[in-house]
Amino acid sequence: MESSENGPVSAHSHLPTDPELRVKALEEVLVRKGLVEPAALDAIIDMYQNRIGPRNGARVVARAWSDPDFRNALLADASDAIAGMGYVGRQGEHITAVENTPDTHNIVVCTLCSCYPWPLLGIPPGWYKSDEYRARAVREPRKVLAEFGVTLPKGKAVRVWDSTAEMRYIVIPERPPGSMGLDQEALAELVTRDSMIGTGMPMEPQR
Ligand code: FE
Repeated sequence: MESSENGPVSAHSHLPTDPELRVKALEEVLVRKGLVEPAALDAIIDMYQNRIGPRNGARVVARAWSDPDFRNALLADASDAIAGMGYVGRQGEHITAVENTPDTHNIVVCTLCSCYPWPLLGIPPGWYKSDEYRARAVREPRKVLAEFGVTLPKGKAVRVWDSTAEMRYIVIPERPPGSMGLDQEALAELVTRDSMIGTGMPMEPQR
């Protein structure tokens, strides 16, 4: 089924929304002028939306949870450690991994625009690009987190990381309780996109 960022598109909505029409019109002009190949565009979109999505990031987190040497390497030089797993590409050149601990929670924003580690997390969600999130994540991070359903204990510090073209961030969430016996593949299933931005927590394993 066709889907948008907000969920599946109903079978009744055959008319594209205004932004979709604008994108379509732009694409049409670029193709007509011979500036882009439609197939190349499709391939890029498919790669970031479906094949990559946030699953690469989830595998990085799962490995960090399971392999202390990898975790140390990741925290020391994330770009290098992540490139070692083959996750390279646009907007993924300079990455820092920040680890949540019992004392500190990390959250990522791009106050200027929407810088985001594409090769790890795919295309940023709409709210990440919104003026509201970009302003409020810095000004009142605890309140923003609470609105995402993340309520932190009073004593826990919040660190806000501002992404730029020079440096992007991935949050390594705390490994959920009850996940001890799981292998990396099962652990990766628990890692949500939002938990790697810092606006969510990983899922807890089903018992
Ligand atoms: Fe940006």
